[in-house]
Amino acid sequence: MNKPKIIIAIDGYSSTGKSTIAKMIANKLGYIYVDTGAMYRAIALYAMQNEIISEDIIYKKKLISSLHDIDVSFKYNSDLGFSETYLNRKNVEKEIRSIEVSNNVSRIAAISEVRKKLVAQQQLIGLNKGIVMDGRDIGTVVFPNAELKVFMTASAHIRAQRRYDEMFKKGDDITYEAVLENVMTRDYIDTTREDSPLLKANDAIEIDSAELNVEETFDEVYQYIKQKLEVKS
Ligand code: C5P
Repeated sequence: MNKPKIIIAIDGYSSTGKSTIAKMIANKLGYIYVDTGAMYRAIALYAMQNEIISEDIIYKKKLISSLHDIDVSFKYNSDLGFSETYLNRKNVEKEIRSIEVSNNVSRIAAISEVRKKLVAQQQLIGLNKGIVMDGRDIGTVVFPNAELKVFMTASAHIRAQRRYDEMFKKGDDITYEAVLENVMTRDYIDTTREDSPLLKANDAIEIDSAELNVEETFDEVYQYIKQKLEVKS
């Protein structure tokens, strides 16, 4: 008999370690991991490359009419052990992680038409279950019936330090202050937008990633997963 498969939604603020935990769970269960933030980042990159967004303006109509020309996809890279993001068949995995994209992505993600396109694609990917998806609205909008919902938090300072350390290690020319400002601005836009704001689903378990290390967080989530899978089988 096939093992039952579930949907695991991991939401929360930026740089709470969502993707690290989501990837560990997907590896452990043999599930597909989907980084929905990467999808919004790819559209932000398209907008930047096509002069649709600048520091103080978004040509919203132009972006909406271009949406059918934007194809965001993932391809598994077996050397790296995770999927990389493609924008119109070009690998953009590195580009979408830049501070410039980070500074633009939340304004792009607040546009309803952009969300509609990506949410439909995400729901299609999850049709056969067996997925771990991380983002901001997975447990509330994309999969309100997900079997397990996790909501991750931590203070803005801790998250900014984490992101800064990661970027510094990669050799990015960036200051801690710039990262903190980006984290706080994105928190504000993501929690106050009208369409699908970032919020904890009523039935989500909340984890403060500042209190637990990666292994402890994984162990806690994995206990919940085992319970859910037992109920299903
Ligand atoms: O997860 P990550 O930090 O890469 O996401 C980048 C941005 O994409 C977020 O700050 C948010 O504005 C947007 N996002 C979203 N909904 C999701 C995932 C990401 O609005 N499900």
